Amino acid sequence: MDVVTDTELLPSQGETVLGKDYFMTPGGKGANQAVAASRLGGDVSFIGKVGNDVFGDRLMANLQQNGVNTEGIESSETFSSGMANVLLKNQDNRIIVVPGANNQVTAEYAEHYSHILTESNIVLAQLEIPLSTIEWCSAFCHEHGIPFILNPAPAQLLPETLIKHSTYITPNEEEYTKINSPSIEKDYGETFITTLGAHGVTYRNMTVPAPQVKAIDTTGAGDTFNGALSYYLASGYNVEDALYLSNTAASFTVEHPGAQAGMPTWEQVRERTDKERTP
Ligand code: ADP
Repeated sequence: MDVVTDTELLPSQGETVLGKDYFMTPGGKGANQAVAASRLGGDVSFIGKVGNDVFGDRLMANLQQNGVNTEGIESSETFSSGMANVLLKNQDNRIIVVPGANNQVTAEYAEHYSHILTESNIVLAQLEIPLSTIEWCSAFCHEHGIPFILNPAPAQLLPETLIKHSTYITPNEEEYTKINSPSIEKDYGETFITTLGAHGVTYRNMTVPAPQVKAIDTTGAGDTFNGALSYYLASGYNVEDALYLSNTAASFTVEHPGAQAGMPTWEQVRERTDKERTP
């Protein structure tokens, strides 16, 4: 859950200030990406954990309202829901993220829901749960021939086995510099799909441009791109078409404030594309 406080003053140590406004909005990279894929028409299941608290109830309800299957989500009795405390001053923000129950999404927990993985055409993961869980999940998908996409955010150095077990890894430009060493890039160049903001995305020697739109808030652009990429690849589109369509999907998100509000439907993406693309 993102708790966003809009303020003209930031408190210094020991000080109390009055803020202007605050609002709560469902967030989390995984949840945003699940909603993006579902809104396009994907049949999406989510594996994760919330706290047994008011945020947990709201987060679950939001996923369900967006058509995401929440069978793989449990409530923790010991940890609270993951929360991002966002202090917003003018256009500048300071954020404290508390992972809470997300840290309890262990490999054993994911294994308990492995039937969800084996029933899926594609699996998409982020780095907001323990790395050991992602490593288990990628190895499981590799072993079972299930395409595995890793959105390496927030960025950290990735073990080579994880890179090897991933079908695609989707950093933005900044994350790309943090996750791997140049030697790995040489051996796994075909794995990396790097997003370039308004410039679209690059894969191997190809750059796929994004539609030119009037961007007002880029929050959730990467999440929409990842959810869309998973949806289009799982639906059988080739990589080039999937990249083009995912750029187009993400371009809707930057036209609206917040992460999930602007995520498009399949029909909206189709209307913005220049030619018919089929799986
Ligand atoms: P992140 O949101 O993770 O930082 P990027 O900024 O690279 O990632 O954006 C992800 C994708 O969102 C881009 O590849 C592109 O498809 C789309 N996008 C981002 N910014 C814009 C923009 N200003 N105009 C059009 N599309 C955009």
